[in-house]
Amino acid sequence: MADTVSITFHGAAGTVTGSCMELRHDGRRLLVDCGLFQGSRTLETLNHRPFAFNPRQIDAVVLTHAHIDHCGLLPRLVAEGFEGDIWCTGPTSDLLEFMLADAGRIQESEVAQRNRRRDRAGQKLFEPLYTETDAIAAWRQSRPVALGTWFTPAAGVRARLWNAGHILGSASVELEIGGVRLLCSGDLGPEHKAFHPEPESPAGFDHVICESTYGDRKREHLTLEQRRSILEAEIGSALARGGNLVIPVFALERTQELLLDMAMLIRAKRIAAVPIFIDSPLAERATRVFSRYSGTLEDLEAGDVFKDSAFHFVRDVAESIRLNSLTGAIILAASGMCEAGRIRHHLKHNLARRESTILFVGFQAQGSLGRVILDGAERVRISGAEVAVRAQIRRIDTYSAHADQDDLLAWIAARQPIAGSLFLTHGEPDSAEALRRLAQGHGHGRTIVTPLIGEEYRLPAGQPAARTKTGDPAVQAATGRDWQNSYADFATKLKQRLDEVGNAEARQQAIDAMRAVLDSYRQARSRRKRESSRHTPA
Ligand SMILES: [Zn+2]
Repeated sequence: MADTVSITFHGAAGTVTGSCMELRHDGRRLLVDCGLFQGSRTLETLNHRPFAFNPRQIDAVVLTHAHIDHCGLLPRLVAEGFEGDIWCTGPTSDLLEFMLADAGRIQESEVAQRNRRRDRAGQKLFEPLYTETDAIAAWRQSRPVALGTWFTPAAGVRARLWNAGHILGSASVELEIGGVRLLCSGDLGPEHKAFHPEPESPAGFDHVICESTYGDRKREHLTLEQRRSILEAEIGSALARGGNLVIPVFALERTQELLLDMAMLIRAKRIAAVPIFIDSPLAERATRVFSRYSGTLEDLEAGDVFKDSAFHFVRDVAESIRLNSLTGAIILAASGMCEAGRIRHHLKHNLARRESTILFVGFQAQGSLGRVILDGAERVRISGAEVAVRAQIRRIDTYSAHADQDDLLAWIAARQPIAGSLFLTHGEPDSAEALRRLAQGHGHGRTIVTPLIGEEYRLPAGQPAARTKTGDPAVQAATGRDWQNSYADFATKLKQRLDEVGNAEARQQAIDAMRAVLDSYRQARSRRKRESSRHTPA
């Protein structure tokens, strides 16, 4: 049926990364976002599988914002033949240039590192997913458009962007395609977010696609001033100890929020005017984009706060190393989870000092160095060296760029009436499910769908969506929990690995050995059961 509109979820379904939706109508193909999968090794293998569509046949991309899990596969899309425009807001286009370039450099250096090992072992070398050159080529295809202005990404398709209140430049996407009115939320910001007004979009759609990252979490809704007071207290006690205050930060948005709050606290003489070093080239570039758009941002009553004389942007590595001899300074450095970047050498020099303070202000994923420190490790390994943790470890969790459960429900309520279906994407299964139950209770949408990766739906005007294709179970398992990740990986490679075993007899032995391992678990379990029943007093 040429005239029906359909949507396929290629990522951020059953998981929070890899955002990519494909809309098709009458021979036209449009992507909303083309993001990188980030997280476990298994999840990241999805970045390397062939696209489920031909990049040459995509007419255009509409990009919601510059976070890598939404834009990080664009360089690969372009390298594989996509020639259309990447529509986004002006700030997103400006941020995209170095966010993608940085991602390209990371891809190149990670592969170089792995290849050094493989080269020594005489193994086949990997190719990077894409390079910095690919990244810049993709950025050149970006096409800025103002919020609220209709544009035509493909023949017969009209679109408009709306403020999503998540990070600088973030937008929701309104689409009119084949007589169907759609809205894709993109990532939504919380109430009381610095710089950006609360998300706004029109109401009355056939179908709405809403993110559900924090669909199962309620946060205290603090005002900017309440948050600033918490920061003031942390900075005050850190400086009173006489050591450095080291803050791991995300280069985009969190850095600028902290700079705004610190500038305000300094101007009001609520904290001492100590030097504040921003030791991240990416954060400096992002801050420059904030300055460029300062006329459109909220909460900047006092002009360009980013140019405050207390702030010192650290350019080269030599200057960064000189900070090691300092004491009584505030140092902001990336990466936010301490997995890479200059923060690692600041941790190396400050973790062991009792007078230093490490202040976490962002999400720390399981397994990251930031999380290990936060969870109370007494010693950590940083670039090959053992470091004792003696510094004060502090945390503020009141900064967030994401809507919580209440914010999401309010956003969905404000989009009513939704004549067809409400899709909940971009969430772990528990978050999407919690939000689905609540949204249903509130009577939002005639049907609520939590799509899985790879699924395709028909989107009729005024009617609930209908699933027309299921996804690949192996890919779906990769977005699931850890054991499922390993299982999917194991299952897909099993045949290949057996084929590599020399002959039929050896293969049979390998299968017998695997079976024996599984049997041994079962035997051990029944033995334990028998023993515990013997020892149970009558
Ligand atoms: Zn985001």
